[in-house]
Amino acid sequence: MDFSSLKFVRFLLQDVKNEKETKDMAVLIRILCCILSVYFLACGVTVAFLQHYILGLLLIGGIGLVTGCFVLTYEDHTLMSLVLLNATILASSTLLCIFLGFDLAFSIPIFLNILLIYFNKNDHMARKRIYSLALMLYQMFLAEICSILDLGITPSPIIKMGFQTFNMFMFSCSILATAYSYCTKFNQAEEKLRRINDNLERMANIDTLTGLSNRRHMNEYLAGLVFEYNRSNKIFTMAIGDIDFFKKVNDTYGHDTGDYVLSTTAALFRKFMKDKGHVARWGGEEFLFAFENMDLDKAYRFLDELRHEVEKTPMDFKDYHFNITMTYGMEEFNPRLGIEATINRADAKLYKGKQGGRNRVVKQ
Ligand code: GH3
Ligand code: MG
Ligand code: MG
Repeated sequence: MDFSSLKFVRFLLQDVKNEKETKDMAVLIRILCCILSVYFLACGVTVAFLQHYILGLLLIGGIGLVTGCFVLTYEDHTLMSLVLLNATILASSTLLCIFLGFDLAFSIPIFLNILLIYFNKNDHMARKRIYSLALMLYQMFLAEICSILDLGITPSPIIKMGFQTFNMFMFSCSILATAYSYCTKFNQAEEKLRRINDNLERMANIDTLTGLSNRRHMNEYLAGLVFEYNRSNKIFTMAIGDIDFFKKVNDTYGHDTGDYVLSTTAALFRKFMKDKGHVARWGGEEFLFAFENMDLDKAYRFLDELRHEVEKTPMDFKDYHFNITMTYGMEEFNPRLGIEATINRADAKLYKGKQGGRNRVVKQ
């Protein structure tokens, strides 16, 4: 069942308007207010039956305070609401312990205060520690005061067990709500962090214009191929491709047309290389290809096919219609040379191709 569709649940989960306050704190306080209202009502009525009329009335009055806390969370006063809620819990626990006896477990809700303090992100850790220590000491002090004053009733075992069970139950519900809220908050923060990390990783590895790997990522990728080569002799061939007369494209049709050409060819490369290896934007209008499991001749056949495809792909941007060509230099990975020198050899062949008239693949 999807509880979020219920009107009351939607009302409980309503976000806070103040940016400095957090929604999860406000929602938790609202849920605890609901639980405490039921608690005060049940305790108030039972206590009145035990002829503690004033205490009963005070507890019923506690519902008013809790309602106040509830309303404050919708008025952008979450912190004030938290303080009031803590004070209400502390006061009611103290009164109930003193007038009904410490051993009926009325002091348990004080633990809730400690949890709530830790939930408040606006407070300093040192203050949280001091306050929680003070609360624990207060519990001990309360136990002593109760035994000294000895005002508590001597209830029948049934009433004693009833109160203890009820206190435990209500406290467990509150703990459950707090733990659930903690968990949700933690998971949301983790998820957000994961998304940011993914994004950062993407930004560090991907060229924004073309969506291809950038030089940094390609170097990492090539290091992986070298590792594979050393481990299992898996050969690979590299090639550098450079768009011919690209400056002219920019000068004639504008820089945005040049960008369009880069992203269009990049998309073509990505599709073409899908089952053959990897491609990256190596520099301005230069692309680096890695043909995995291929020697020079096999990679040459594919690269020449790609050269043809680029040549016949129409570039249609704004009112401009034209074609481009590319020149490539290639070299099979040579472990004696290493990656850098192998790429340099491919680059030298690219230069040879440019000198020789462009629009060609140079493998020798
Ligand atoms: P060649 O055939 O000898 O390679 O000539 P070319 O004009 O392609 O080479 P050149 O090195 O003279 O010019 C490359 C141009 O690429 C210059 C630069 O402005 C352009 N360029 C580099 N990066 C980008 C980019 O991201 N977008 C656009 N539109 N142009 C770019
Ligand atoms: Mg060029
Ligand atoms: Mg160039």
